[in-house]
Amino acid sequence: MTLSTTVPTIKLLINGEFVESQTSVWRDVVNPATQEVLARVPMATQAEVDAAVAAAKTAFKSWKKTSIGSRARIFLKYQQLIREHMKELAAILTAEQGKTLADAEGDVFRGLEVVEHAASIGNLQLGEYAENVASGVDTYSVLQPLGVCAGITPFNFPAMIPLWMFPMAIATGNTFVLKPSEQDPMVTMRLVELALEAGIPAGVLNVVHGGPDVVNAICDHADIKAISFVGSSKVGTHVYNRASLNGKRVQCMMGAKNHAIVLPDANKEQALNQLTGAAFGAAGQRCMALTVAVLVGEAKNWIPELVAKAKALRVGPGKDNPDVGPVVSCTARDRVESLIAQGVEQGAKLELDGRGVKVPGFEQGNFVGPTIFSGVKPGMAIYDQEIFGPVLCLSAADTLDEAIELINANPNGNGTAIFTQSGAAARKFQEEIDVGQVGINVPIPVPVPLFSFTGSRASKLGDLGPYGKQVVLFYTQTKTVTSRWFDDAASSGKVNTTISL
Ligand code: NAD
Repeated sequence: MTLSTTVPTIKLLINGEFVESQTSVWRDVVNPATQEVLARVPMATQAEVDAAVAAAKTAFKSWKKTSIGSRARIFLKYQQLIREHMKELAAILTAEQGKTLADAEGDVFRGLEVVEHAASIGNLQLGEYAENVASGVDTYSVLQPLGVCAGITPFNFPAMIPLWMFPMAIATGNTFVLKPSEQDPMVTMRLVELALEAGIPAGVLNVVHGGPDVVNAICDHADIKAISFVGSSKVGTHVYNRASLNGKRVQCMMGAKNHAIVLPDANKEQALNQLTGAAFGAAGQRCMALTVAVLVGEAKNWIPELVAKAKALRVGPGKDNPDVGPVVSCTARDRVESLIAQGVEQGAKLELDGRGVKVPGFEQGNFVGPTIFSGVKPGMAIYDQEIFGPVLCLSAADTLDEAIELINANPNGNGTAIFTQSGAAARKFQEEIDVGQVGINVPIPVPVPLFSFTGSRASKLGDLGPYGKQVVLFYTQTKTVTSRWFDDAASSGKVNTTISL
C-alpha cells in the first residue's frame, strides 16, 4: 500500500524510541461514526518484534534492581499525567473506537485506578518470613519479577485493558512488550507516551503493532516469560495453547454471555434502568455487558416498559455524548445485523429492531440501535453467540432455581447480576451461581483493583486474573530461602549426614 502523506502513521516503541515500521503491510484506523481514516497502523515485522523483545530483555537487567520507591514514584507521576490529560485521551478514544465521551472517560478512569494501585507496589509485593523453622534456621520468601512479559489487548477498552497490564507488570520489576488492538491503537499510544513522560526508562516498555502474525511471534518468542491476553474466546484459546506449549505463563480473559436475573420483587424502575444501561451502553461492546435477562414470574410483564426505555435512548456519534454510539467497524455492524436476522428466522420475537438506524449528518456511521428479543432459548444463534452489539435477549423462568440452572448451563462465566429486594434470594444466587463476577443489584460488577478481575469457566484460561492481588502473583515467581548462620565460637565442626535441618 502507498502511504498518503496526510494520514499519520502509528509508531512502534522500541528501546525508548518511537520508530516507523519497515513493514509493507498497513491497516487503516477508521472513525466508526464517519469512516474518516485517522491513521495507519503497521503490521510489524518479525525483526521488529525481535528488537522490541531484545530491548526489554536488556532493560530487565537493571530494571529488576531498581528500588521499590523509584518504581512506585513513576506510577504516582503517571496517574497525575493521566488525570491532567483525561479529556484529550477520551477524545482520541471516542474518535477511533466510537464510544461516547462519557464512556471513554470511564474507560480511561478504570485504567487509571490500576495505575494508582501500581503506585502502592511496596505493600503488594511483600514476601513472608518464618523464624526458627528448625533451631537457628529461618525461611523466607520473595516475589521476584519474571523477565520480559507481553500483553495482547482487544479493541473495546483500548485505555483500560493496556492499563490492566503494563503498569502492574512493570511495577513488579518486569519489562514489557505491548501489542494493542490494531483497530484502535491511538489512545493506547498516547497513554504510552505519558508513561515515558512519567519516567519509565528506555526498553522497560515497548510496543509492537499487528495482527495474528505478531501475536504468534509473541507466543513463540523464547525470551518472553509471560503473556496477558484479553479478547475473544477463539483467539484467547489459541494464544493460551500456543504460548503454554512454549512454556510461558499465560492468562487469557475472553468472551462472555452475561445473564441478569430479574425477580418480581425487584425495584422495578431501578432494575429496568440498570438493565437498559448495561445492555446498550458502549453499544453492547463490553465483555461485562448484560446480554440476556431472565425474567422470573411476574417480571415477565415488564417487557413493554423495558422496550420503552430502550426506544428512548439516543443513538449518535460518541463525540455528541448520546446514549449509544456506533459499533467499531462496518464488519461488526454487518455481523450484528446478520445475527438479528437469524434471531427472527429462528423464532425469537423481535420486540425492538435497531437495524437500519440513520443518524442525520452521520449517514456513514456503523450505527445499530437498541434491539430486544423475547422468547430467546439456547440453540438460537442470538443466545449461543456473543453478539457484541446493542442486542438484549429476554428469556423467562418460573422460579429462581430454574433461572440459576439456565445460567449455570451456559458455558461462559464472566459476569452475572440479580435484581431483587430479597436478601435470601440474593444469598442463594451468590452461593449457587457458577460465574466469576456477581452483581447484586449492580449490573456490571467489574471489581476495583483492590480485588482482581475474576471471570471463570469458558471466559477465562489460566488461574490468576488481571490486576489486584492475583496479578502480583502472575507477574512474579516465588523464591524461598532457607538460611542458617553459624556462630563460629559455638560451632562444633562436626559433619551432619542426616537430611533434617
Ligand atoms: P479479538 O480476539 O479479535 O482480538 C484480541 C487481540 O487478538 C487483538 O490484539 C488482535 O490483534 C488479536 N488477534 C485477532 N485475531 C487473531 C488471530 N487470528 N490470531 C492471533 N491474534 C489475533 O477480540 P476483539 O474483537 O478485539 O475484542 C472483543 C472480544 O474481547 C469480545 O469477545 C470480548 O468479550 C472480549 N473481551 C473480554 C474481556 C474480559 O476481561 N473477559 C474484556 C474485554 C474484551
